[in-house]
Order: sequence, then C-alpha cells, then structure tokens
Amino acid sequence: MKQYDKIPIVDAARRCGVALASRTLKHREVEATCPFCHDHGPGKYHLSLNTSTDLYRCNLCGAHGNSVTLYARLMGVTNREAYQALTREGKVYPMPRQAKARTETERQPMPLERRHEAYTSMLEHLTLLPRHRENLLERGLSEERIARNQYRSMPETDAGRRLLAALLRSSGHELLGLPGFRTYYGDWTICGPKGFLIPVRSKDGLIQGMKIRLDDADKPSRKYRWLSSRDRPNGTRSYSWVHVTGDTTQKRAFLTEGPLKGDVASYLAHDTLFVCVGGVNAIRGLKGTLKDLGVTQVVEAMDMDQMTNPDVRNAVLAMRREVQAIKGLKYTKYTWDPAYKGVDDYLLSRAAVM
Ligand SMILES: [Zn+2]
Repeated sequence: MKQYDKIPIVDAARRCGVALASRTLKHREVEATCPFCHDHGPGKYHLSLNTSTDLYRCNLCGAHGNSVTLYARLMGVTNREAYQALTREGKVYPMPRQAKARTETERQPMPLERRHEAYTSMLEHLTLLPRHRENLLERGLSEERIARNQYRSMPETDAGRRLLAALLRSSGHELLGLPGFRTYYGDWTICGPKGFLIPVRSKDGLIQGMKIRLDDADKPSRKYRWLSSRDRPNGTRSYSWVHVTGDTTQKRAFLTEGPLKGDVASYLAHDTLFVCVGGVNAIRGLKGTLKDLGVTQVVEAMDMDQMTNPDVRNAVLAMRREVQAIKGLKYTKYTWDPAYKGVDDYLLSRAAVM
C-alpha cells in the first residue's frame, strides 16, 4: 500500500462509531468494543486496532480486516464507497455505540408495507427455473396459478446474487432491515440455499417474508427454510409469518402447515381459504390472523402422520387449544384417506379422478 493510501484504523473505527477504550488510546494496540460480536457483554474490549499495520482483529469472534473493510462492513457500503468516504475531508464522528446484549441489537425487519414493496421488486428481477416450474406443476398447480403466486428461483451464482442486491438498491430499496439481505466484505448480497422462493402473504396479500424450498435438503424434514440473514453482517432476522391464501371473504378457514401446501390445497379446492403456519411450533400471530379474517369456523387439516411423533403431537394440541380459545369460533378436524399424507396430496388425488 502506498503511503498516501494509509488510512489510520483508529480514525476509521471512530468514523463508524466503534467505542474505544480511552485508557489505551496512546498504545500501539488500541482496544475497542467489537461491533460484530459485542464482546458477549458490555464493558469489555475484545477488538484490537493495530496502529502500525492499520488492521483490526477481534480476539473473541475472529472478525478482522483493514480500515476500508471495517468501515464497509459496519456502514453497509462497498469497499470502494468505504475508501472514498474515508479519504474525504471534513470528518464527522458519530457518537460511539455502546455494547448491548445480542437480543437488543438484533435488527428487526422493516415494516410490512416496505418489505412488501422491496420483495415485490425483487420478484420482478427473478425468474423461475424449469426444474422448479416442473416441481410446482407436479404438485397440481396450473401455469396460470404459478405465475399469479409469483414463485421464483433463488439466484444460482454469487454474481447473480450481488447483482440482484445492486438492482434493488439502485431502484431505491433499502436492504438494511430486509430479511435475506446482508453485506459480504462491503458488498450487499442475498443469502440462503439454492431452491425456489415462496411468497408468504398477509390476509391483504402483502408479502410478509419468503420461504425457500431447498433443492438439496440434508433431511426430509428440513426441505423449507425462511429467507433470513440473521447473525450476518448488516443482516436481518425473519419471523415465522402466517400465510393466508385463497378467498379471504370465506367464513371458514382451513388450517395447515407450510405456505406451499396451503397454496396447492387452496388452488385444488377452488380457492378455499387456507391459513398456514410455518411449523406446528410457530403459532405466533395465528390467533390474530384468524380474528382479523373474521372467520367463524376453523378446520384443522394438518398432515395425517403428525400425531405419531409425540413432540409434533403436543405442538399440534397446543395450537388447537390456542385457536379454540377464540370466542365464537367453531373448530373441527378435516379427515381424509390416510393413504395421502397431506391435504394437498389428497385433493390432488381427487382432482385426478374428477
Ligand atoms: Zn468480536
């Protein structure tokens, strides 16, 4: 690095609000709170800023780099943008951040309307690969319904993923607070396994979040994952949002697990209203959704094999109690030929003979 490229690490740290240990300011190694792991508690200084090499390293989480990459990671900009910002005159230092417990610092998703806008724009930039379309057709969905529900394939390459993030940013979408997006050495990108995206919608049709149907699942029970960038630089967690699909004017809602299962079952049953939880343990928001929909009857249509696993059985029973606690609601169980695992499989088999 040429002499005029030297960017003092302490200066860079100050400019992104890293809290320095004042007693070490004259030392060759200046100590600071780690902005990545937060030192696993306040009042500790695990980040070491080396004033002769202008490199940083956290002795706890191992985060390391130079002035430019530190600034880029913390400010959510590219390395080029970080370099330009750091070499600009007229420095303004923000107030140092105080170390907080992990739960306090965890970034929350941006409001629903903005998530919907950003995700809608994201879907416009993506396509559906033939193997994913094939998978959806085999489940019984029509071409028309596949298009309307807006399933899309995750970008296959790193370059494609960074390009997607760049396109969204250039059209004015904030990625900080959008689950699934993160920075990688200063560049914004989307993270997650290969597969196809399933929009998870509110009762008003707004996209709350995305579920990914994985191409390669290590376990059959882990075929689906939320699009999330929790614990990643500038990342945002997802919640297990409740998906609503079908005719929302209906007073009877079917209750099942998994947004794609609900989409398929709803389509095969002529737009019957389905409310889908992300998992049997993920019932946060379920009661509110059912109340907002104003349904008077809920029909449970969980997978037939679920009651054989004791843990799953207990979760289903807990969910049932939660829903049955809603005043004035009639709760019934939908049963079908147990040769078919899910309500979607059963409806598909009926559609084939009709
Ligand atoms: Zn650290």
